[in-house]
Amino acid sequence: MNKNNKILLKGLTLSELQEYFVSVGEEKYRAEQIFNWLYNHIVFDADEIKNFPKDLRKKINEVCELKTLELVDKQYSIKTATQKFLFATKDNKKIESVLIPDKERNTLCISTQVGCPLDCKFCATGLMGFKRNLTAGEIVDQYLLVAKEYGKEKITNIVFMGMGEPLLNFQNTLKAIEIFTHELTKGLSRLRITISTAGIPKKIIELADSGLRVKLAFSLHSAFEDIRSKIMPINKKYSLNENLDALKYYAKKTKTRITFEYVMLKDINDRKEDVKALKKLSSQLPSKINIIPFNSIKHMNPSGISATLESTPYDKIIDFVEQLRKENITVFIRDTQGDDIAAACGQLAIKHN
Ligand code: SF4
Repeated sequence: MNKNNKILLKGLTLSELQEYFVSVGEEKYRAEQIFNWLYNHIVFDADEIKNFPKDLRKKINEVCELKTLELVDKQYSIKTATQKFLFATKDNKKIESVLIPDKERNTLCISTQVGCPLDCKFCATGLMGFKRNLTAGEIVDQYLLVAKEYGKEKITNIVFMGMGEPLLNFQNTLKAIEIFTHELTKGLSRLRITISTAGIPKKIIELADSGLRVKLAFSLHSAFEDIRSKIMPINKKYSLNENLDALKYYAKKTKTRITFEYVMLKDINDRKEDVKALKKLSSQLPSKINIIPFNSIKHMNPSGISATLESTPYDKIIDFVEQLRKENITVFIRDTQGDDIAAACGQLAIKHN
């Protein structure tokens, strides 16, 4: 229920919708119908539900909320065709999603929290601090609002890599995935969904045991415990070693390959010894490494170590990648997608919050 005492229908799974419809004296099959209208036909108003009687549509509009977000701004990168969407929640918090086109796929990067409590030193969202978790409806609506504009078929992949740590908003993230992948919504394959985490070992294990079998990306950024702790304070609570055990379990249980995300930071994680450490680490489990050029956050006037961070020069990044490849490591370089529109996580939303 939201603060207008309306029931939030968006974000309810099919079984929750069935429970709700039965509890208000409606037929159970209505739940399946509305599930289809909400997530497949993408309606935001009960009046669009053609096969519901007028009375029922009126009742739903009076007591239920079908839309959790408003699209308030959109930016387009002429360099890369990346598009950024700024959404306002009902309590006027701003969150963002990014649509990243590639040769064979269009990936939508979505947020799970307003801000983030983990304070990674290279991340704009981390500087913003934590406001609140998003509801399952708010997570799902980022996808639906973009899909409404471009067509569902245009979004081939979803990554939970926007603002926030998805595993700290575990239940709502799982509910959103259940909706995205439900056969009634003609949804996405689970293997086209990736959750990115900074590393909460017990949640990684819980995710493996959930049977969802989505892909998992781990924000590594250094294979050394002490350096990782400096740039990712969460490492002091959950060490890399502890996370590696959980990641091995995940890879084995789901039969998937882990992606290690690695933001290139000058003189911090781009040295010869980092290549060696990455080889040792990545050889322990089925994995690949995504190298990411660092998007500067200097415009946010950060303090402490954040103020000193610089991207590794591009020619040195190429050299680093070649050294990894010589070690037979599978490695990719991610474009600085849409750096002309500040596509790095959180930057547009922070400006507006
Ligand atoms: S990188 Fe991810 S986990 Fe770290 S502060 Fe940013 S949003 Fe949070």
